[in-house]
Amino acid sequence: MKIAIFGAGQLAMMMVQADQEKKHKFTVIDPSPNPPASHYAEHIQSQYDDRNTLDKIARECDLATIDFENVSVNAMRQLEKSIPVHPSSHALEICQDRLKEKTLFNKLNIKTTNFFPINNISDLNTYRRSNQSYILKSRRFGYDGKNQYRITPDTKIQTDLINEECILEELVDFEAEVSLISVKSVNGNIYFYPLVENTHKDGILSMSVCPSGYDFLQSDAERIGSELLEAMNYVGVMVVEFFISKDKILIANEIAPRVHNSGHWTIEGSNISQFSAHINAITGDEKNDAITYMPSVMFNVLSQHIPIMKIDSIKKNYEISVHDYHKSERENRKLGHITHTCKQNDQLIRNIRAILEIF
Ligand code: AMP
Repeated sequence: MKIAIFGAGQLAMMMVQADQEKKHKFTVIDPSPNPPASHYAEHIQSQYDDRNTLDKIARECDLATIDFENVSVNAMRQLEKSIPVHPSSHALEICQDRLKEKTLFNKLNIKTTNFFPINNISDLNTYRRSNQSYILKSRRFGYDGKNQYRITPDTKIQTDLINEECILEELVDFEAEVSLISVKSVNGNIYFYPLVENTHKDGILSMSVCPSGYDFLQSDAERIGSELLEAMNYVGVMVVEFFISKDKILIANEIAPRVHNSGHWTIEGSNISQFSAHINAITGDEKNDAITYMPSVMFNVLSQHIPIMKIDSIKKNYEISVHDYHKSERENRKLGHITHTCKQNDQLIRNIRAILEIF
């Protein structure tokens, strides 16, 4: 099949790389000049909603997908008239907007933190309670902690804080953060990976470990994943991010309507990587294998490339796979990731401590 991917970052790159048998042809669309996936697939350098590009994709491709959730919903709606788009514009519309997403959670009785729509300062003053801390987030275009502001009882609100539609969320005093990688194929089959435990720094993912220490929450998480997949008529990989409260309850935070950074470990750590799972799901090319996995950790390489000496020093004692996204250094930019897998979970935990020491 010929598959168009809107967005040509590292996620698109790893989707293309996952097709090792070269069953499919890929075209990636991205306005930037040399994005990571452009080294592995035909690259159309244009805006995502460019009329000529959409016409060309509709004529030449069998289906389309995304590596980035902020592509234009209208453009995808237009494209859907000619070819299947997975996930659909409907799912994208919900997942692009934190208010719509959280409203869907609540409609399905999925627990969230308390949240309030905020359009101006007076809304904020209406909902804010003096003894409560919050996070104010823009409803759209926020990722990796961008467009988010913590509001504590002492914060003096500045009038320029709200220049777009926002959502005010009560701060969750969580014990841990986990994500559920969920897959639904075009044939309707659903499966899941074990919960992954995630550590963030300044709102950006820094480390993911599978299995998490929360396997007793797996069936609750899967029930939530299934309900969301069905409610949005979703096809492909969808990742749900949760907080785990101190009393060990899942609190849904957000949905990534795509393959996700917390699933990169699956390349080495699972029999089916999340990237293969996504391509198989959207093309209907299913193997019906159950997911198997090895205890795994993924470290993100952020801002600066790790000096080769440090990599060599880790490699002396631990088997690691280093993924380079061919990007130049920039503050908080994801430049690559490193995965380590291990046969035993307790050994993995010890190795993580030792590798972090070297970093
Ligand atoms: P998000 O963009 O919503 O995934 O937020 C990025 C990170 O900020 C999350 O992974 C959490 O570590 C933190 N965060 C976001 N929302 C909340 C919240 N309501 N309470 C506590 N921490 C939060």
